[in-house]
Amino acid sequence: MTTVAIVGAGPAGLRAAEQIVAAGLRPVLIDEAPRIGGQIYRQPPPALQRPPRALYGFAAPRAQALFERWAALQPQIDHRPETLVWQIEGRTLHLLQQGRPGTLQADALLLATGATDRVLPFPGWTLPGVFTLGAAQVLLKAQAALLGPRVVFAGSGPLLYLVAWQYQQAGGAVQAVLDSAPPAAPRRALPALLSRPSLALQGALLLARLRRAGVPVRRGVRLLRAEGDGRVQRLHWQQGAQVQATDCDAVAFGHGLRSETQLADLAGCAFDWDAIDEAWLPRCDAQGRSSVAGVYLAGDGAAIRGADAAENAGARAGQALLADLQRPSPLPPPPALPSHERWRHAIKALAPLPADWAAQAPDELMVCRCEEITAGELRACVRDAGALELNRLKALTRIGMGRCQGRMCGAAAARLLAQAANVPLAEVGRLRSQPPVKPVPIAALALTAPPAAAVPAEERDD
Ligand SMILES: Cc1cc2nc3c(=O)[nH]c(=O)nc-3n(C[C@H](O)[C@H](O)[C@H](O)COP(=O)(O)OP(=O)(O)OC[C@H]3O[C@@H](n4cnc5c(N)ncnc54)[C@H](O)[C@@H]3O)c2cc1C
Repeated sequence: MTTVAIVGAGPAGLRAAEQIVAAGLRPVLIDEAPRIGGQIYRQPPPALQRPPRALYGFAAPRAQALFERWAALQPQIDHRPETLVWQIEGRTLHLLQQGRPGTLQADALLLATGATDRVLPFPGWTLPGVFTLGAAQVLLKAQAALLGPRVVFAGSGPLLYLVAWQYQQAGGAVQAVLDSAPPAAPRRALPALLSRPSLALQGALLLARLRRAGVPVRRGVRLLRAEGDGRVQRLHWQQGAQVQATDCDAVAFGHGLRSETQLADLAGCAFDWDAIDEAWLPRCDAQGRSSVAGVYLAGDGAAIRGADAAENAGARAGQALLADLQRPSPLPPPPALPSHERWRHAIKALAPLPADWAAQAPDELMVCRCEEITAGELRACVRDAGALELNRLKALTRIGMGRCQGRMCGAAAARLLAQAANVPLAEVGRLRSQPPVKPVPIAALALTAPPAAAVPAEERDD
């Protein structure tokens, strides 16, 4: 029996699973979340279930369509919820399944691991009450809770306006939306935004609704610092020459998304620099075939394109996988969607990352909160030890070695390194992924580790 493993039960993974089922196979669908849906269609626990319109807004019809499809497919899928894939060796997946360690041997592997927030920190971001935009939304979707009564939303990208509006609708007092993108960005992005008119219209509607609700929306903002006694109480920011402070109980911030690529790295996939996402991404062709035979990539984990594109990419990658197994899919091929590529350019023009972020980061800024490493320490390492590559910086400072394995600090560390070394961002390389991708109990490692080789007495330090 052929074992097809799919990691990620978001839009990409679910559409891939649909293809595999249609060809008469029973895929194993693994996700660390308790319910299917991924990030955009995240479902609350049954006791907190709300109508799709309340949970997903404009995206409710697509969410419903996907859930209905799931209901029909579920009996033919080996679904493993609350299961983390923490290591991949060849085609062996190391799992932590509802707390129990295990392995799965796959004949073909489809990675649809999605994305997480891209974090460019600012002074005071480690104060209690400061969260990422994604975390703010997860709390609202999954637990029907707000970060606090008065929240400031800051950063850039579509999620900034979407989550601010979701909080406003849920009864939160949105104190301000502080966008780092320059005021002219929407005008510059307009031609490319019109490649997907309905999404562009949704964005314009969100902005209009926020303004109509009296929420101050400011562009070209630089975050100066969050301050408070024990937790955040105020956010200081600058717009042009004007410095202002906004009182609040919580801050949600983020600068777009970053692809979750650690499993692709562990699976041995080659990576290329992507100038649009300003990130190293696993190489794959238009069908989702990676550089490693039998390993396929789909959705935001391959490049940030959004949920509709993720569904399309999942279906394509599922078909490619089946074709390579000599079991062609009976479903029609999904359409090519050139507008989705144009949309990536539109989002980059609409929400450019602050080019001067690294130059303006003060030395005392905490960059890595796991290992408590500041911008000044990273700069000193470049200056004194001549570190010019990210993994060298990691070895010398421990940046990216903590619980987050670089998911939080990697983007910022790379920018600081490039700025301190005066080289383009693409030249500092990328953090190599190491297992476990997320913390697991030591028992899980012990169970899967090969027997320790005997250490010669003269090399032992006990
Ligand atoms: C926090 C957050 C909120 C978002 N909210 C919205 C929104 O409201 N509207 C919108 O249009 N877009 C939103 N996006 C963007 C949206 O998530 C994507 O465009 C879309 O969901 C991508 O689908 P996907 O299938 O590629 O990945 P995802 O939907 O992200 O699904 C990936 C899945 O893989 C699982 N996974 C990853 N790694 C592992 C592992 N090692 N082991 C086991 N499971 C793993 C994750 O748990 C996740 O469920 C959001 C993104 C983030 C990060």
